[in-house]
Amino acid sequence: MSDSIDRASDVAEMIRSNAIANHFANAKLSQDKTPPPNGECRWCSAEAANDAVFCCSECAKDWQEQNARRLKAKQIAGHTHYG
Ligand SMILES: [Zn+2]
Repeated sequence: MSDSIDRASDVAEMIRSNAIANHFANAKLSQDKTPPPNGECRWCSAEAANDAVFCCSECAKDWQEQNARRLKAKQIAGHTHYG
């Protein structure tokens, strides 16, 4: 369980790097979209219903807020890249 969390923070670190951020932007990966359901809450890793991405609406809201922050950070990184 902690293994997937470690990997997620690794990805977050990579996205902070401009080169990787550009790579992700160019590849247009589904990184910015809600992930597909996998039976596990994508936010707290609690058990979720088969067709649910999150175990509860609170987790969905937290994930969306974090995702919005990440998108904004990516946009800011894109601007500072030129400065
Ligand atoms: Zn959850």
